[in-house]
Amino acid sequence: MTTAVPATFPAMDVAGRLPRLRERMGEAGCEALLVTTLANVRYLTGFTGSAALLLVLADGLVLSTDGRYQFQSAEQLAGAGVEAHIAIGKVPAQREALAEAAGAVAKLGLEAANVSWARQRTFASDWFPSAELVPTEGLVEGLRRVKDEGEVARMAAAAGIADAALAAVKPTLAGGITEADLALALDTEMRRLGASGCSFETIVASGPNGAKPHARPSGRRIGQGELVVVDFGAIVDGYCSDMTRTVSVGQPRSATLARMVEVVAESQQAGVDAVRAGQSAAEVDRVCRDIIAAAGWADAFLHSTGHGVGLDIHEAPTVSATSDDTLVAGYVVTVEPGVYLPEHGGVRIEDTVVVTEDGCRPLTLAPKELVVA
Ligand code: ZN
Ligand code: ZN
Repeated sequence: MTTAVPATFPAMDVAGRLPRLRERMGEAGCEALLVTTLANVRYLTGFTGSAALLLVLADGLVLSTDGRYQFQSAEQLAGAGVEAHIAIGKVPAQREALAEAAGAVAKLGLEAANVSWARQRTFASDWFPSAELVPTEGLVEGLRRVKDEGEVARMAAAAGIADAALAAVKPTLAGGITEADLALALDTEMRRLGASGCSFETIVASGPNGAKPHARPSGRRIGQGELVVVDFGAIVDGYCSDMTRTVSVGQPRSATLARMVEVVAESQQAGVDAVRAGQSAAEVDRVCRDIIAAAGWADAFLHSTGHGVGLDIHEAPTVSATSDDTLVAGYVVTVEPGVYLPEHGGVRIEDTVVVTEDGCRPLTLAPKELVVA
C-alpha cells in the first residue's frame, strides 16, 4: 500500500496550550473550566477517545474517562507530554473524582455551546453544587484558530491525500459513473492513501443536483457537458482537509454553465488573493461576493465564503458578510464561493489556505482545470 502520509510530523506543543487557556479562563472570570467538547479535550491533552471530561484547574488537570480508555488515555497523555490525574471509572466514579478536585472552586466555567440544558442542571445540582457555574464560549476554540507547524503539517498531508485521490478517480468520470460510485471511489482512495477517514460525507453533485450546495451523492449518472461539484476532505491524525472542484466531462453544454465557472473561478481567486494577516474576514467575503454580484448572480451565491478548518471541518473563524473576525497568521480558512442556478446546475471552487503575514499558502493544490477528458 502506498501512503501519502509522512512517517513523522513536526511535534505539536500540546502541553504549551494549557497556560494560554488558563489566561483566557481568568479573563472569562472562572478559576477552573470543565471541558466537555471532545475535540477540545483532544487539543489540550492528545486524548482521542470518544468519552471524556477534562477539568482544567489553576494548578492541575484531571481527565476522567471510562474503563475502555484506561490504557489509551495514559499512553496518549504521556505521548503529548501532558501531566494530569486520570480518573477511570463509570459515571459515579468520574463525578466523585471531578467533584473532589473542584471542591475549592468558587467559579467553574462550562462550555456553554456544548453542555445541554439537562446536563447543566445535573452539574449544578449533583456534580458541583457548591460552585457557581459560569457559561463560557470559545475559550479553547479561540486558541484552536491559530495552527502551529505540527497542525499545519497534518492538514497539508490531509489535503495532499485529497489532491491525489481526485487525480486518481478523475479518469473514471468520462465513463458515465454515478455520483455515488464516484464518491465511494474518492473515499476509498483517500483511505488507501493513508487517511483515517473523510472530513465529512463526500459531496458529488452533477447537473441539476449541483444547484443544491450540499447535495448527497445519488445513483444519477454523470453526463457529457454537465458540471459536477465535488467537495470532500481527508482526516490525518485528527486534522481535516476541505476542497471543492467543479469539473465537466467535455466542454460545458451551455454558455451559461461556462460563464458560471468563469465567474466563480474569478471570485475564488480574488478571495484567495485578499487573504492575509490583518484582513477582515468580512472583506474577503465581500471581494468574492462583489464579483458574483457584478455578473448578476448575487442571489445565487447561497452561502458564506468560508470557514476555519482544523480538528473540526467547520470551526472558527467564519468568513462571511457578518463576521467580525480579523485574520491572523496561522489561521487556516477556506475560500469557497459558489453560484447555484436550479435550471442549470452549480459551481463551487474551494481551497483551504494558511493565513500568512503577507498573504496565504494554499494547502489544497489539485488543478482547477474544468474539462476532464
Ligand atoms: Zn468543502
Ligand atoms: Zn468548506
